[in-house]
Amino acid sequence: MVKSPKIFLKPETRDLAVEQLTEFFKEGRLVLQDALVALEGMNPVERGVQMQRISGIINDLEFGTKRWVEKNIPISYKEGADFAVNQMLRKNLKVSVQKGFDSIHRDAVQALATATYDSMFGTLEALRSRTQRTIAQLNGIDVQDKLFKDITKGETRQRIKKVIKEEAKEKGVVAFTDRGGKRWDVERYSEMVARTSRADVFNNAVANRALENGFDLVQVTRNSSSHVECAMWEGKVLSLTGATPGYPTLEDAKLTGIFHPNCKHTYTPLSMEEAVTIPR
Ligand SMILES: [Zn+2]
Repeated sequence: MVKSPKIFLKPETRDLAVEQLTEFFKEGRLVLQDALVALEGMNPVERGVQMQRISGIINDLEFGTKRWVEKNIPISYKEGADFAVNQMLRKNLKVSVQKGFDSIHRDAVQALATATYDSMFGTLEALRSRTQRTIAQLNGIDVQDKLFKDITKGETRQRIKKVIKEEAKEKGVVAFTDRGGKRWDVERYSEMVARTSRADVFNNAVANRALENGFDLVQVTRNSSSHVECAMWEGKVLSLTGATPGYPTLEDAKLTGIFHPNCKHTYTPLSMEEAVTIPR
């Protein structure tokens, strides 16, 4: 039996690019929270001005995300392509394309960058409209206070406090609720998107470089994963496109849960000759 590769290239302990984006969003989250809390003592006109400030903070986050994506997605793609070449050379496979990216690769990078940016952009836009709704809600409470002055005595401030507390401390900076109901703040969410996009782009580049050199089969790396969904695929051979009969496809594997958010698995190209020696 051929030993499958143990590759610890992906599960590096630190990823500076990810940390950089996370840190940027952490600062953004703190500024946003302060800006939301400040709404409490404001009248409707001041809240309008504050909304413009909050919008500016969100614009900055969008701009910073765009710059991060433009810089780091091409780097991840290059790393994946180089990794694929190194693995193929290590196995003495015939590699005809080692360097350089033609327009197909450039289009791939562009599409991956756009997808990464869109996932953050949608989240930030949702945050913007939610803040707008909160301000409308606060202004509504003020109007009610004026209309029912005798009845609402003292309660208005409490209601405003409560709305802001919920927005700022709980809902306000929650970026995303996943299918399991878990809530991610913008900081954790940006970290997850950054890490997952980097891995996804890396894996896409490995696949593209392998196919370009005529290899449709890949072997999933072993990281001694504690995820059942991932562990069952470790060391297994997959067909990238479905063109090689008798092997599950990359898509089949993905559907069962491997290559999930924050997943550290990748795969290495291999020849038909090697593939037949590996248990299915
Ligand atoms: Zn995994």
